[in-house]
Amino acid sequence: MTRIGFIGLGMMGRPMAHLLHAAGLSLVVRDANPDAAAGFAAEHAGVAVAQDAAAFSGCDAVITMLPNSDIVDAVVRELAPHLRRGACVIEMSSADPVRTRALAALLAERGVALIDAPVSGGVKKAVNGTLAIMVGGDAAVFAPHRPLLERMGQAITHVGPVGAGHALKALNNYVSAAALIATAEAIHAGTAFGIDPATIVDVINASTGKNNTTENKAHQFMLNGAFNSGFSLLLQAKDVGIAAALGESLQVPMALAQQVSALTSEASRRLGPGADHTELYRFVAPA
Ligand code: NAD
Repeated sequence: MTRIGFIGLGMMGRPMAHLLHAAGLSLVVRDANPDAAAGFAAEHAGVAVAQDAAAFSGCDAVITMLPNSDIVDAVVRELAPHLRRGACVIEMSSADPVRTRALAALLAERGVALIDAPVSGGVKKAVNGTLAIMVGGDAAVFAPHRPLLERMGQAITHVGPVGAGHALKALNNYVSAAALIATAEAIHAGTAFGIDPATIVDVINASTGKNNTTENKAHQFMLNGAFNSGFSLLLQAKDVGIAAALGESLQVPMALAQQVSALTSEASRRLGPGADHTELYRFVAPA
């Protein structure tokens, strides 16, 4: 039976690992928070909790779903000496594509492959197994792992060599953040003019300004003050920062990305690590 390692059982990783277990795969799990790993194993029969990196030595593939590249680097470097030749690391976090390439080169020296397969769609689609997954890496390495990814996602696209998935994910999240901020500003301005905020969202949804924030976030998490989408502002600011840095390193002018990055970073710093990204709505509100 295929044995899969899963590291990072947070908002996204937990429901994704749940789907792999439901598909009958043999799982070894790990999380920095011991309660997350033990809790998952308690609710999923047959799951092993890794006590150390050596516990992943029998895995055919190890999936990582972690906050950022600093953590991914540390975890994968610790893992590397224990993985068997022919194994594959499937890096599903949103991470820095340049660092992903370096990690892939390090693993290749040991005969271990890496593909980056970040996801889009949020917690709801992680639960439903309908995530969009963008894959970077060797097509021949990716092909045998496609069925595994199909347990967690629907739109699975091979987008280029190693790192391309992470690059495209950061760019997507930049576009998404820019639209969220534009939407929030428009709602505040329209409200100040005397228009009902719910009407503003509904009319934009019937018009050309329609976007993921107007359709899936404004009523659901912003206007009602819930601010509980499950995607933190800290993670969003990280993603937009990666996109802005990518533009710089490629010498592609991305003036708006620099502004969105500065605004999301400032909001994250001021609202704190627990803030949801939909709280940008109240951050850009008039005083
Ligand atoms: P999260 O903070 O809820 O989960 C991260 C998990 O990693 C936590 O359980 C944490 O304890 C664990 N962890 C941290 N350091 C670790 C280490 N050294 N070893 C093992 N485990 C460790 O984050 P999330 O929302 O699940 O996001 C995970 C990744 O997916 C991020 O890169 C994020 O940008 C991306 N993402 C999130 C969403 C979303 O809607 N939440 C959507 C798409 C992509």
